[in-house]
Amino acid sequence: MDTFSNLIGGEWTPSSDVTENINPSNTDDVIGTYARGSAADAEAAIAAAKTAFPAWSRTNVMARHNILKAAAAEIFARSKELGDLLAREEGKTLAEGIGEAGRAGQIFEFFAGECLRLAGEKLPSIRPGVDIEITREPMGVVGMITPWNFPIAIPAWKLAPALCYGNTVVMKPAELTPGCAWALADILKRAGLPDGVFNLVMGKGSVVGEAILSSPDVAAVSFTGSVGTGKHVAMKCTETMKKFQLEMGGKNPAIVLDDADLDVAVGACLNSAFFSTGQRCTASSRLIVTEGIHDKFVAAMIEKLKATTVDDARKDGTHIGPVVDQKQLDTDMKYIEIGRGEDGAKLAWGGERLNRGTPGFYLQPALFTETTNDMRINREEIFGPVASVIRVKDYDEALSVANDTAFGLSAGICTTSLKYASHFKANSQAGMVMVNLPTAGVDPHVPFGGRKGSSYGPREQGRYAAEFYTTVKTAYTMA
Ligand code: ADP
Repeated sequence: MDTFSNLIGGEWTPSSDVTENINPSNTDDVIGTYARGSAADAEAAIAAAKTAFPAWSRTNVMARHNILKAAAAEIFARSKELGDLLAREEGKTLAEGIGEAGRAGQIFEFFAGECLRLAGEKLPSIRPGVDIEITREPMGVVGMITPWNFPIAIPAWKLAPALCYGNTVVMKPAELTPGCAWALADILKRAGLPDGVFNLVMGKGSVVGEAILSSPDVAAVSFTGSVGTGKHVAMKCTETMKKFQLEMGGKNPAIVLDDADLDVAVGACLNSAFFSTGQRCTASSRLIVTEGIHDKFVAAMIEKLKATTVDDARKDGTHIGPVVDQKQLDTDMKYIEIGRGEDGAKLAWGGERLNRGTPGFYLQPALFTETTNDMRINREEIFGPVASVIRVKDYDEALSVANDTAFGLSAGICTTSLKYASHFKANSQAGMVMVNLPTAGVDPHVPFGGRKGSSYGPREQGRYAAEFYTTVKTAYTMA
């Protein structure tokens, strides 16, 4: 069995405790043992990042460009192997895993380019003879706390801009999926990243995560995870005056209007509600359907679900892999019971635990109908292959139901009407709006993020990432 160490100050550093990385499609398959770092490991990594910062922040932009470009090239060249590792440790299908690995490559490629486009502004002052320069400087040591559901794309979309803009990094990946983060650390080390610029400390949130949040030497923290942990991160960062950015949950609406193309609507909703086992913060869990198309839509969704194969993530023909672990499966099953029980919704399809050839966390996608927006299954994030149909009278009611939520990450509408599509783009209270597309599935070069309880702080990805990973300086010069 292979053992994977933490990367601290450029050294692969073993720890006394380890975590087994288990395949959710087959719990007999142990991928490897991964270091479970201590608070002292996190502190050593922060010290290494602090030491590496002055030189890295001044590194020639072409050198930074070359390192990020080399990392992108290796990720592209190994996307099948990395996608396989991802499918094996997280449980999304092989095609989804390979797609996500490719996305990580695209993100590194984008920020390799951005290294050569760092720019400031020069302005005249209102005072004669004075020039003003506005420049962006790196924050310093950035802490990153990442979740299990996009184990290579999310580390990539935090790491690539942080390095591009001259920061040094300490990353703590989710305990369930250390493999992809370790692979990224290995790739960056071989791409020539100087020692201490990127430190990987795998381990528990309550130990390694806490050490990052408590350290006065960490200038900023980028977090993706649950709402509860996000609030805790916010409190801790405020205590130590760190800049922070949070990406948390969603309860994303997908509206289907009477005039929608039924195939387009069913395709978009099936994808965003159930693919990747519904474990995407951009998944649609509230399918808001107007009465004229409601019955046809539900019948067509059930037909599609009947033809959907849930099985080993890496097997040919699998459309939906397993749930990530027993804890998440228990949560999904609890909400299916709440839907059927206290909420009084109709379970129109699925929701059964499935047995396959190997011991894994297999769950049949669940579709509820006859639901209302005040039910718990429509208000609380489930994070599994569970979606509800909410019947509404018309577009106005659909819009009001869509916005009636504590979250605001992404929102979709399926319609052939330009009028309703335009109105929805302008009036949806979400950070990302999709027309005739799944609510999940975003481009790598444009901003990602939401409103209300979903997100806090500047957007991630694309050029907007500079808002978080840099701080602005205004300099006045009397010539
Ligand atoms: P999930 O329930 O999806 O795993 P979490 O919010 O618990 O979401 O986890 C997201 C990330 O936050 C993980 O890397 C986890 O280890 C980390 N984490 C959990 N608790 C803490 C904490 N107290 N301090 C810092 N990080 C934490």
